[in-house]
Amino acid sequence: MYAVYAAVDSFVHRKELGVRKIRIIAWFLTVAGSCVAIQAIQPMLLMTGFGLALGIAILYLTINNPSEYEDSLTGALDNQYFGQWMQEQMNHGKKWHLLTVDLREMKRINKIYGGTIGDALLQRVVEGLHEITGSDYVFRLTGKRFLMLTRSLEGYERKRNALQQFFERGFWIDGEFLRPEVVICGIRDSGQLKKSDALLVYIEYLVSLAPNGESSILIQSNDKTLQGFWYEQEIEHFLSTAIERDLFEVYFQPVYSVRNKKYRTLEALSRLHHPSLGPISPEVFIGIAEKSGQITEVGYLQFRKVCQFVKEHKYLMDMIENIKINLSPMELLKEGHSQRLVQLLKEYDLPGSFFQMEITETAATEYSENMYQAIAAFEKAGVGLCMDDFGAGYANLNTVLKFPFKVVKLDRSLLEGICEQEQKAVFYRSIVSVLQDIGYYVVSEGVETVEQLSLLTEWGVDMVQGYYFSPPVPADKIQALLSGM
Ligand code: C2E
Ligand code: CA
Ligand code: CA
Repeated sequence: MYAVYAAVDSFVHRKELGVRKIRIIAWFLTVAGSCVAIQAIQPMLLMTGFGLALGIAILYLTINNPSEYEDSLTGALDNQYFGQWMQEQMNHGKKWHLLTVDLREMKRINKIYGGTIGDALLQRVVEGLHEITGSDYVFRLTGKRFLMLTRSLEGYERKRNALQQFFERGFWIDGEFLRPEVVICGIRDSGQLKKSDALLVYIEYLVSLAPNGESSILIQSNDKTLQGFWYEQEIEHFLSTAIERDLFEVYFQPVYSVRNKKYRTLEALSRLHHPSLGPISPEVFIGIAEKSGQITEVGYLQFRKVCQFVKEHKYLMDMIENIKINLSPMELLKEGHSQRLVQLLKEYDLPGSFFQMEITETAATEYSENMYQAIAAFEKAGVGLCMDDFGAGYANLNTVLKFPFKVVKLDRSLLEGICEQEQKAVFYRSIVSVLQDIGYYVVSEGVETVEQLSLLTEWGVDMVQGYYFSPPVPADKIQALLSGM
């Protein structure tokens, strides 16, 4: 009996059936076990062999019966079945062309029109996908993402065009007209990725490339997207090593006070060097760390490094007012993270008032209990708050007012054209004066030319930061830089 069990176990294990494995084994054991029991009571009935055969038959049918894997709402096959089925196709060297559809507005649709209409939309979409592909192989990968397959390249292109038209037409559901935003991704030749889970991550990557705000977007996989994907994968992998060995560096960029005519604060900015890919832009590795959930560890290591630096260079406290630290939205939302950062101040015996957390507009628009607790923890420790990148996102003044910011940094993009276009200049100047009237200190980011500087000085901006003064520099250059002012 054990030998049979072991054989079944290794069989289902090879098929990577996970949770279903237990259910299948349970079925198998129930059938086989009952037959053995019957034979024990009635030795005349030779049931054991029959029971085993029946058990194995059930097991075989369960694995090979896709209807077991159907999503109950739409009837599409589920992602678990896709993973197994696709892996089998890949193992046998079979190539497929894939099309995925991501209904990225599902949350909003459910909110506005209600779950019933949302469900009906999903059903309508799957019906349409079956019609377009002409096959049963339509998979529901996530709540709002579907996948179809085709063997011929000609069929792939025809179906891709049909898909675009299908969504452009829109849907009438219960008297409501819906034309949901959709991201269609096309992958010619699934064989470029050898594992079905890698394929799913790649699909996620392709969807993330879609720009916001367009109703129907087609993202086509090509050599460039594949390279970008491998690059991100490599960085994500390298980030784990970097966290483990603390390979990050901190650079500092000075912020110039227009009134005092000297550097008044420093902004800490992370740097990471990959042994073969060279320096990785913080925008890239911070973005990946945010997606992969590693950002809190990166943030923690960075803050510790800054504390260490301040501790070892006490002169900093005499020369500048504070150091600004960038915090990602995720860092604010993660429970207990801000308390960990505050704890570091205690460990290094540094005053909270010597630090100011820079929070982006996007973070400030995501209200949550954790966020308020994080802000409260910083306030209690005397740590200041600065709104970063104002004007780059969607937050309005109302959002800014909800948090106890002392300083607002105007995004570099707002500077564009202020020296040439009167309208842009008026806009910038008005924002400065509104923010100052409310009581904020205003920092202009990304100042590169003397012309920009003289306009900003004329408009009474409090502080200025940018390449015109200095790029971010390594820690060992800071003393010379501050003394030179
Ligand atoms: P940010 O917070 O807006 O930082 C300012 C960025 O603008 C820095 O880019 C800086 O080098 C660059 N910059 C400064 N002056 C000029 C200028 O005059 N012209 C131009 N074109 N650029 C200028 P960097 O260092 O590449 O950092 C990019 C972004 O990465 C930062 O934008 C910040 O959002 C993020 N970041 C960097 N370090 C960290 C970190 O430790 N934690 C978190 N959460 N984010 C970080
Ligand atoms: Ca910043
Ligand atoms: Ca900024």
